[in-house]
Amino acid sequence: MHIGLDLDGVIVNSISRWIDVLNRMAGTSYTPEELPDTHGSPDRATISDRHELEMLIVAGPVDGAVTALTALRTAGHQLTVITARTPRLCELTEAWLRYHGITVDRLHFLAGGSKVPAALAEGIDLMVEDAPHNANALAEAGVPVLLFGTPYNVGVTHPLIQRCEGWEAVTAEITAWPVGQLGA
Ligand SMILES: [Mg+2]
Repeated sequence: MHIGLDLDGVIVNSISRWIDVLNRMAGTSYTPEELPDTHGSPDRATISDRHELEMLIVAGPVDGAVTALTALRTAGHQLTVITARTPRLCELTEAWLRYHGITVDRLHFLAGGSKVPAALAEGIDLMVEDAPHNANALAEAGVPVLLFGTPYNVGVTHPLIQRCEGWEAVTAEITAWPVGQLGA
């Protein structure tokens, strides 16, 4: 199976760090549950640009991600990262993956753009994603999504979106494919 993978909030444990940095720099008091609300913060883009190494590269892996991705690749699945990160983080992100012992087949850096064209061009069978707007856009385009359960994506529903609480649940769902195939 060809599996598409989001990075932040799915493989890299960067969301809580990002909230911490935003609150520190902007004097706000967002919680991780309020991540979508931070898009309305006027300082968001500037702070994100200036502190992206602390937020995105210093952060460690999400619990269970390394074990799960190693097992999936060993089982013969193809892994393609499709991230909204800027391309200037390409080498550092590849180094992060190497440092943490994660091997993937390809990476796409979309600089905040839609993930749909890359997902369709790659012909991925499913995408593991946490962001509500990306999950919905992919599902609307016909790409099944395993929604990596987080406090900020509760309530996201679509026939092609299946919520999974943690990497063990993601792995179990992929292993059960196509028995539990979304939309079947
Ligand atoms: Mg994400």
